[in-house]
Amino acid sequence: MAVYKIVEIGADVLRLKAKTVKEVNPSIIKLLDNMIDTLHAADGVGLAAPQIGVSKRVIIVKVDDVLVELINPVVLESAGQNSAEEGCLSIPNVTGDVLRPAKVRVQGINRYGQMVDFQAERLLARALQHEIDHLEGILFVDVAKKTYRS
Ligand code: ZN
Repeated sequence: MAVYKIVEIGADVLRLKAKTVKEVNPSIIKLLDNMIDTLHAADGVGLAAPQIGVSKRVIIVKVDDVLVELINPVVLESAGQNSAEEGCLSIPNVTGDVLRPAKVRVQGINRYGQMVDFQAERLLARALQHEIDHLEGILFVDVAKKTYRS
């Protein structure tokens, strides 16, 4: 268990397309555990592996005390639209209004190597889309209608 330093905007790793995980092995489990520790230490809502310098398709999101861990996540369907303010642990002191689909159906693999497929809405949907964007090298400031410096 370890708390990683969070990589900030300007770092190349945040702009790479992250690599697909081929096998859920002990090093991926360790990565998930360390990401959880790092998210808790930073008091954040979500974290993608590139944010701790690991270019792999792994994300975690914690909304309303429910932790979602996903390996190779994809958005299969989306519906509606909703605009809300976002921030990012990799972009300190900046927030922005981002328009995103309000509901998504997401598929991925959990730490037990099982395929999971579920619907999400509200903050969970937003956080999942934000983290999946990280795996494509996309940051919220790229897609925000407007950003604010605090
Ligand atoms: Zn982020």
